[in-house]
Amino acid sequence: MSSLGQQPPQALADALRATGARRGWLAPDGRGGVRTSGSLAGLGVAEALGAAGDARDHQAVFLEVGRETACLMGAFVHSTRRGQAQGGLRYWPYASLEAWLRDGLRLARGMGRKCALAGLWWGGGKGVVARRPGRDEDPGRRRAVFADYGRFVSSLRGCYVTAEDAGTTPADLAELQHHTRFVTCIPPERGGSGNPSEMTARGVVAAMETALGSSLDGARIAMQGAGQVGSAMVPMLLERGVSRLVVADTSAERCRALAERFGDPALQLREAEADDDSILAEDCEVLVPNALGAVLGPKTIPGVRARVVCGAANNPLEDDVRDARALQARGITYVPDFVANRMGIVWCANEHAGSLPDDPDVLRHLDPGWQDSVQAVTRRVLDEAERSGTTPVEAANRLADERASEPNPLWGDRATRIVRSLLDGDWADG
Ligand code: NAD
Repeated sequence: MSSLGQQPPQALADALRATGARRGWLAPDGRGGVRTSGSLAGLGVAEALGAAGDARDHQAVFLEVGRETACLMGAFVHSTRRGQAQGGLRYWPYASLEAWLRDGLRLARGMGRKCALAGLWWGGGKGVVARRPGRDEDPGRRRAVFADYGRFVSSLRGCYVTAEDAGTTPADLAELQHHTRFVTCIPPERGGSGNPSEMTARGVVAAMETALGSSLDGARIAMQGAGQVGSAMVPMLLERGVSRLVVADTSAERCRALAERFGDPALQLREAEADDDSILAEDCEVLVPNALGAVLGPKTIPGVRARVVCGAANNPLEDDVRDARALQARGITYVPDFVANRMGIVWCANEHAGSLPDDPDVLRHLDPGWQDSVQAVTRRVLDEAERSGTTPVEAANRLADERASEPNPLWGDRATRIVRSLLDGDWADG
């Protein structure tokens, strides 16, 4: 039989339930390995985590089998030195437990770095729920999944704060908020900040202008994906006078809606099949990955004809270090995802502190004069890469990891102590 890591994530939920347990955790053992709660001993999860990626820089992975739905839920806590681990909840179908763990590890690490580089007093985390197509689709079942997840987050006592991400909607977050206070990105009618996509788009455009070193007037742009972020970015680019904006999306409906909204001759819309990545080889100044992750790798990078790659998609490189080097070797400037797309988290991260019209604490992130703005950090990362002879990914990781080690000025190591108390206490028995 195949290892647990190769089986669908639900296999772990079923194995855990068969032992009479519902919860478990994994954490580094300080000797380069992984220790687990007693509930996970012997199930093969530590081996699956080892195969999924490097978990040594994470503080903990918490797992729970949904009380009502029995689906597998996870909270990945990468870092809590700057504050509570913050990061959205991804509700996605995964072919294997290993893929589920890999996504959680990568995304949580990215969030830790994103918050640190943005100067936010948050740590990094990520929620991942293994979606079961065909099983939880009706509205009642779906509500139950997010109710389960809300209860799970409450049980973590605030070391992880969740938010919206791929596969989740404002309605899901509203349901989740019935069951936990540790959630941001909630609808405005509940006092939250609502959809962050337009802000994310503004940040990405600011980063691409910085990387290009000139205005976008007359530039040719190729964009993969015109969803929430991409379609908000289209008018921003047209207003800046781009000479050509080619947009590929797999949704015919999205393409039609954009064509109806903008009659601009510079805009070309292409309905693409899911496996059609020809947009990545478009001759242009800026390539904007705004759809999925892992689209740039050994197969696609040789075809890229852009000067700059800068988009909203999380983890657009298959392998961060290898693929950033491959882009650099071709003379292409790559702006790391977590440098360009920070405005989503900036928009919602501090909503608990209330809001102001044209919120200055949000908008300063787009003010080139502020030392930690999107533009200033993009410039710092690209300059540091050039100075040190590394790639922007390596430079950004280094700068982010330095800042991630700064303790929260108000709360010190409180969030870290919460993680420790869960590992040392009886949380896994709950
Ligand atoms: P979305 O789901 O609204 O949009 C994604 C779009 O990509 C959809 O229109 C979809 O049809 C299209 N698409 C999917 N596969 C494609 C393919 N192979 N070729 C072309 N188009 C394809 O998501 P979004 O909220 O716009 O986010 C886009 C990306 O940015 C995601 O990776 C997300 O994680 C990241 N991100 C979003 C935010 C935010 O504020 N929404 C913030 C930070 C990062």
